[in-house]
Amino acid sequence: MIEQLTVKSRGKKSIMKRLAKGTIVFKDRVFDPNKAFFQPLSNAQHPVALMFTCCDSRVEPAIITQSPPGTLFMVKNPGNLVPRYQAGANTSEAAAIEFALTVLDVHHIIVCGHTDCAALKALYNLDGLSRESAIYQWLAPHSEVLDTLEENQDSDEGLNELIRRNIIQQLQNLMTYPEVARRLEKGTLHLYGWKYRLETGETMLIDPFSCKPEPLSAVIAHLEEEARPDMTLGQMEKQVP
Ligand SMILES: [Zn+2]
Repeated sequence: MIEQLTVKSRGKKSIMKRLAKGTIVFKDRVFDPNKAFFQPLSNAQHPVALMFTCCDSRVEPAIITQSPPGTLFMVKNPGNLVPRYQAGANTSEAAAIEFALTVLDVHHIIVCGHTDCAALKALYNLDGLSRESAIYQWLAPHSEVLDTLEENQDSDEGLNELIRRNIIQQLQNLMTYPEVARRLEKGTLHLYGWKYRLETGETMLIDPFSCKPEPLSAVIAHLEEEARPDMTLGQMEKQVP
């Protein structure tokens, strides 16, 4: 399925043609042979998790987690940020949290950062941005995480630490939402910090206390059992002729 979308030419017209062709390939080779799976999704969704991740084009949660459509309720923004709760705030993040919890009754929230994050590079060098730029205005309210970094690190180490600490900070920001706090207290909601490594394809669990990353493969046995989606993307692809 994905091979069909490989961009072999950088010409603008051919890129759009390729993307358009991809939609046809998807309908003919993925959707139509799996109608029994897709059609119930046309009027209802029951996602198992809300995920905050970066709008970076290399971070594709459905592929990283091998999950079919309908599994992840997703918010993508620069830097996978969650603004702190503010009564009456009209952010898309607050609306998504409210909808995911009170309408979809999601029991898991994942904040998934990633390596080589351009948004966090910009946050790391915030003073270099124009105060008028939209990215400065988006990042600046989240700059307090910079104060938690150790001093005298080289820039690569500093950025990696910022990526980890930023994930923890967003988990803490999530806890400022009264509905999140209430469900955490009741034990009906669980928060997780993940970091996707672009260079290896590995996803790490970020421990909120030690801030140390551990491969998800090493801790998977300790994750609680949950009802799995009926079909994984990998299983679905195997059915594609
Ligand atoms: Zn990013």
